[in-house]
Amino acid sequence: MKQPNLLFVEDELKVAAAVKKGLEENGFTVDHAPDGAIGGFLAETKEYDLILLDLNLPFKSGYEICRSLRQKGTAVPIIMVTAMSDIDKKISGFDAGADDYIVKPFDFRELLARIRVSLKRNAGLTSEKPEDLLLRAADLEMNLSDKTVTRQGIPISLTVREFNLLEFLMRRYGRVSSRSEISEHVWELNFDTGTNTVDVYINFLRKKIDKNFEPKLIHTKSGMGYYLKDISIHEHTH
Ligand code: CA
Repeated sequence: MKQPNLLFVEDELKVAAAVKKGLEENGFTVDHAPDGAIGGFLAETKEYDLILLDLNLPFKSGYEICRSLRQKGTAVPIIMVTAMSDIDKKISGFDAGADDYIVKPFDFRELLARIRVSLKRNAGLTSEKPEDLLLRAADLEMNLSDKTVTRQGIPISLTVREFNLLEFLMRRYGRVSSRSEISEHVWELNFDTGTNTVDVYINFLRKKIDKNFEPKLIHTKSGMGYYLKDISIHEHTH
């Protein structure tokens, strides 16, 4: 397999050098751009598998680079790197079309995990045939290419996290997933599953996709976890 080719746009040279070295040790090829002008130029002229974008950069911000790439229709995965003081700006990062963000100072392993998740997600999507970009369960339909969800043809608006959770449940149709499996796949990292975050998000999803519809699709397996299934029909469709 070819080495994934990354662009890292970062004006803090010490951070850039350490991250570049770490990524190269883990099998990546890394171009480093020290400011937004060079970063924007490289991002638009060279092909990358993933772009890591610092937010505050000389000449052109990470936000501007990201927005301009998306306006040109570039689908490359983009992870925004933001300083703690810029945390409010992460929202605008998502508006500009970033796939994920990480807050400085970060643990290198966390960065690596996020890069791998983004690359895997992208590879999974692009290798599928167009018709595979639709997931269906009963009258619930998820379009993975334009990130829309409908039930009985009615558009349902989901947050990124709700969408990812629903996608996970739909891909595991009929199979029970524990809270820790869900948090590992949907939150993409192992975190303390003592929290009830998963239950909270399951409730958000239920309100949106099940509350006003029949049959109910999201089910609780007591003591085990959750699964998505149309239990009103027999298995002959699968
Ligand atoms: Ca910076």
